[in-house]
Amino acid sequence: MNDQQLHPVTQETSPILTCITEIYERYRHINEGNVATYIPELAKVNTELFGICITTPEGQIYQAGESEHSFTIQSISKPFVYGLALADHGVDKIMSKVGVEPTGEAFNSIVFDEVHNRPYNPMVNAGAIATTALIKGQGYEQRFKRILTMFEGFAGRSLSVDEAVFESEKSTGHRNRAIAYLELNAGMLEGNLEEHLDLYFRQCSILVTAQDLAVMAATLANNGINPITKQQAVNPEEVRAILSVMASCGMYDFSGEWLYRIGLPAKSGVGGGIIAVLPAQFGIGIFSPPLDARGNSVRGIKVCEELSQRFKFHLFDSHPVSQTCVSRTYTGAMVSSKRQRRAFQREFLDKEGEKILVYELKGDLYFATVEKLTRQLQNNQKTAKFIILDGRRVGNVNSSAITLLSEIKEWYLSQEITLILTGFEEKTQLCLQANGWTDEMFVENIDTALEWCENSLLSQADYQDQTIKDQLSLGDMDIFKAFSEEEITVIAPLFTEFSYQPNEFIIREGEQADRLFLLAKGRATVSLKLPQNEQRKRLTTYIPGIAFGELALFDINVSQRTADIIADTEVICYVLKFDNLQILINKNPEIYIKLMQTFGTTLVNTIKRATLEIRSLSV
Ligand code: GLU
Repeated sequence: MNDQQLHPVTQETSPILTCITEIYERYRHINEGNVATYIPELAKVNTELFGICITTPEGQIYQAGESEHSFTIQSISKPFVYGLALADHGVDKIMSKVGVEPTGEAFNSIVFDEVHNRPYNPMVNAGAIATTALIKGQGYEQRFKRILTMFEGFAGRSLSVDEAVFESEKSTGHRNRAIAYLELNAGMLEGNLEEHLDLYFRQCSILVTAQDLAVMAATLANNGINPITKQQAVNPEEVRAILSVMASCGMYDFSGEWLYRIGLPAKSGVGGGIIAVLPAQFGIGIFSPPLDARGNSVRGIKVCEELSQRFKFHLFDSHPVSQTCVSRTYTGAMVSSKRQRRAFQREFLDKEGEKILVYELKGDLYFATVEKLTRQLQNNQKTAKFIILDGRRVGNVNSSAITLLSEIKEWYLSQEITLILTGFEEKTQLCLQANGWTDEMFVENIDTALEWCENSLLSQADYQDQTIKDQLSLGDMDIFKAFSEEEITVIAPLFTEFSYQPNEFIIREGEQADRLFLLAKGRATVSLKLPQNEQRKRLTTYIPGIAFGELALFDINVSQRTADIIADTEVICYVLKFDNLQILINKNPEIYIKLMQTFGTTLVNTIKRATLEIRSLSV
């Protein structure tokens, strides 16, 4: 089963679910902490409610407890609104209005960065109110609509507001009002202050569940793409900014210790929610209302601590990773393209093929793996004129790999070595093109790239194929190289000349195999129809001077063709029906024997090449 088939499923049993349920059971009965009461409506909550949810970037959801119970998002709204403000104004403007330094003070403290005349960071109330004040839009309704829509993009569903909590905070939020007035006084915020405050109270009163929080966190883990809707909820640049402030300031005045112990960017809210993110891997959402003295959910912290310790989730736990991305490497002398070559070309390529180096890459490309690749390339490149890097088995290619690959490209350009990439995903190609790679550096597959490199080696040595226009005579064929003119005169009447139009079948799979072909003009390709696929796979391409269909001569059991041979261009062949060989046996047995010996030698050479190729590919 491949990855694409692993759709998210409702997990009734799974090792991960068992683990989460176990953690849920362990902390369910803990009775420490108190619910927030400074917003009167929050004091009414049932302290036993407890939900845990983990969501992966693929959208797999694991949950335990009351993870579908709604509560108000409160401060967890802050990093998300900060992302929206960044999208509205850009980093420079936002940075001039709100800093990114932790305060070490409580969330509602009345402290400001007086040197820069701005609140310290967007995670404390002073910074969050200043951030909300920057959200664009015509008036309260439209501005709130933009905020709500942004949250809905993260949660992947429509959300609503707890009007009772909103009214409760609006009528009692004097401290926040005081903070806002001080900011207005200092010129830290502008405009309709009551409107900004209402927006802020309202964003804090949006109802979410632990499951929503996990999906929102997973959206951050997934570079801004919502794992459920697959829509881009936020730009990757904003994701980085959001996660940075969460990591440094997300857990009130416990932020430093949180990063030290748990090591995940996180944000908590006085409603009892916590989100935590392990970039690229998952998002966590937890709900449990009783808070510790700093305002963080008591059970929430315990769950995160346990998960982080059990699975070593700490961002700075370094997990040894495979540092090699080369699955195998060979030269063009060991493995050649599927194009048939004339004897003189083959001989030339057997030597000169050393100048073509192929690296088949695998796994993820990032700085460490590409750095090692550069060293391998440097060790092997002395003879190289062409380097083919194949990306068929490559997974993710991150931006440092893109930068390093582009440096490699520049290096080879200056060395006059041709670099070709094959089989890379389109999105990688686009990133590379944005870094100055040109179209001709990307080739569909190794075979086509090898053929191109061989052709350019051959043409540099003036060993290229006949032009399409020329027609070879019978005596020009490779198999008749050792035949005298008299011998050819004897054999010629046994052949009949046939011509084919482009795309015409010369041989059809399943057809009776009763003749051999000598290609005199044009090109023809042997291909196989792939099961469940309209495309054909090229096995080989024949050029003038080459014989094909001769195998059947030696295969007494199989009298049917095993693949199609189709004319690529206008083609002329000299065709010998096997029946005609009887004439040769009767009249000129010595020529018959010579012909068979030639075929024997060709076959032996083909097998030798195949053995060499298999050996190179199995290393
Ligand atoms: N609305 C709350 C306040 O500003 C949010 C506080 C929090 O969750 O930390 O006081």
